[in-house]
Amino acid sequence: MKREMIIAGNWKSNGTLALRAEINNLLNDTNIEQGITVVVCPPVTLLEGMISDNKNPSISFGGQNLAEYGQGAYTGEVHAQMLRDIGANYVIIGHSERREYFSEKAEILAIKMLKAIDAGLKPIFCIGEPESIRENGEQNQYIESQIEEIIAITGIDVWAESILAYEPIWAIGTGKTASLDQVQEMHAHIRDTFSKHSDTIAALLPILYGGSVNQNNAAQLFTAVDVDGALIGGASLKQDQFAAIISAANAEANSN
Ligand code: PEP
Repeated sequence: MKREMIIAGNWKSNGTLALRAEINNLLNDTNIEQGITVVVCPPVTLLEGMISDNKNPSISFGGQNLAEYGQGAYTGEVHAQMLRDIGANYVIIGHSERREYFSEKAEILAIKMLKAIDAGLKPIFCIGEPESIRENGEQNQYIESQIEEIIAITGIDVWAESILAYEPIWAIGTGKTASLDQVQEMHAHIRDTFSKHSDTIAALLPILYGGSVNQNNAAQLFTAVDVDGALIGGASLKQDQFAAIISAANAEANSN
């Protein structure tokens, strides 16, 4: 069974109305092959406008975060149904920046995942090891425990509706990309870890790579059998680079 390919852009705390218009124009005119979904996750201030101005049915939108709470007196928070209400279909959960700067641990991330799924949002759940772990050769155990700790709380079934992004922390925003071998090896390991819980879910789970993906390395990364797309930070803010990454995904889809 062929898995869907996902090209997701995480704008982080970047973006203005001018950038929104630029990227909307680019995406409205971009050909996207069947079996590929492009997901744009701008800051929440730009999300509704981007969704309203989008004319390309192959583009979806997502939040970069959601509240662990529902509706109510939670000043400053945006909850799952609010994202769905404006037409978002995805939400990033567990990005290393949220784990590090906002101290989000598995217990909170699991609540967010369940809230997202309940509201009909697909989580893009991020995991990844710090550089010191990779240097010690302990990345497989580290990633396995990140997966096991979240499944222990969410259960396995919600993963049939989710996407996983492997983002080695040392590769995020650093210009250092993991090699093709490192990426394929880890993605296969992630799939094996899920298959201890469910072979079906493991086989269908889209696993994205994230970490300095750009127009020069995307095509090669997409050739790996267990790479089902990318989560892209910096390059998703640059029209020409994002377009080139989408073209690389189109080329990979056409080669199969
Ligand atoms: C990210 O923040 O998810 C990311 C992968 O960033 P970058 O592409 O800039 O490394």
